[in-house]
Amino acid sequence: MSKFLLLISRRNFLMGVLTTIFGFLSVPNKAFAAQQAGDKKWSLSNSQWRERLSPQAYKVLREEGTEAPFSSQLNDEKRAGTFLCAGCELPIFSSSKKFDSGTGWPSFWEPLEDSIQTKVDYKLIVPRTEYHCRRCGGHHGHVFNDGPRPTGKRYCNNGVALNFQTNS
Ligand SMILES: [Zn+2]
Repeated sequence: MSKFLLLISRRNFLMGVLTTIFGFLSVPNKAFAAQQAGDKKWSLSNSQWRERLSPQAYKVLREEGTEAPFSSQLNDEKRAGTFLCAGCELPIFSSSKKFDSGTGWPSFWEPLEDSIQTKVDYKLIVPRTEYHCRRCGGHHGHVFNDGPRPTGKRYCNNGVALNFQTNS
């Protein structure tokens, strides 16, 4: 192989590696951005969201903040009902799949079908799986693999990101 060809193939190899790495890193964020724009009705500006939400809910839903543990009364909510997204009222969880995780955040072992989407976040360096409302893109919490049966999942949700509706 001539020096020229060797140089070309090395460059291609390097580009391939870089494309793979950056492609991998950017996929979750791309999916999130696309989803946020997905439902036009819920593609609101930051100031529109500020008008709709309390400052605490805005911080969590739109800026991926985390509320203080044991700060939400929904942590102790034990009535039969449905937990809705505080951003757009999409039903996210059923009370039948809520459990007491002892963490101070409302916890569930399974979301309702087609209610959330996930992405990996690296905010605490260790990768965690973030989940957000499928419809308005609002951040709700993180999902961990230390939940109870049958799923073994723990959806750790900010209470301020949810509204509760009792079954009537
Ligand atoms: Zn929503």
